Amino acid sequence: MTLAYSISHNLTFDRPRKRMVDEQMIARGVTDQRVIDVMRLVPRHMFVDSPLVSRAYHDCSLPIGEGQTISQPYMVARMTELLQLKGDERVLEIGTGCGYQTAVLSRLCKRVYSVERIHSLHMKARNNLRRARLANAMLTCADGLLGWPEYAPFDAIIVTAGGFASDLWLEQLAVYGTLLMPEGSHGQHRLVRRRKLADGVEEEYFDACTFVPLLEGESHR
Ligand code: SAH
Repeated sequence: MTLAYSISHNLTFDRPRKRMVDEQMIARGVTDQRVIDVMRLVPRHMFVDSPLVSRAYHDCSLPIGEGQTISQPYMVARMTELLQLKGDERVLEIGTGCGYQTAVLSRLCKRVYSVERIHSLHMKARNNLRRARLANAMLTCADGLLGWPEYAPFDAIIVTAGGFASDLWLEQLAVYGTLLMPEGSHGQHRLVRRRKLADGVEEEYFDACTFVPLLEGESHR
């Protein structure tokens, strides 16, 4: 192996990323091959601030500024798997953060519409997604509790902050669409998946988890 090859190989973090997928995802029961392939591909280190790059593939959430976090890698894979995306969906994400989950979703569906309430994080995600050359994600800075009515209906809605669902989300979901979110209060959440049916809603509960809180209103920080 030449020195140049080994340096560029190290900089792309291929090995830690492969280990992350094997040890944190496959070993814990993630089975959707499309999700596994995308987690092997998306450069998570490009979504964290430079002092944290060496920890980008560790089994934990990391700070992204403004008291918010990039979710633990396993949780990103698990939530993505629970959406059961086939490739032709239009997905609404509430809580863009640094844009990592947005990047993962964008490779598994037709288009992602992502809403972030904190202006500086919205700008950070915009920059990260441009560097990762992802063109099928649309971002806005707004209160995600309002959904994104201009682009509704969505085939799936994923919420990456913990709290309780806004009624507008179910309204903006297509029939047979899926809403996935960490539900609960005081940092004690459980993943819930709701499927909108023609005459009601089907509901399933999954992993216990802890997310940063879903908050109301836009923040100009
Ligand atoms: N998916 C993100 C996770 C970020 S943490 C990532 O991979 O980095 C959750 C994010 O939800 C935070 O950035 C927080 O500011 C945002 N958030 C909380 N309440 C919100 C709301 N009402 N509308 C939009 N974003 C919200």
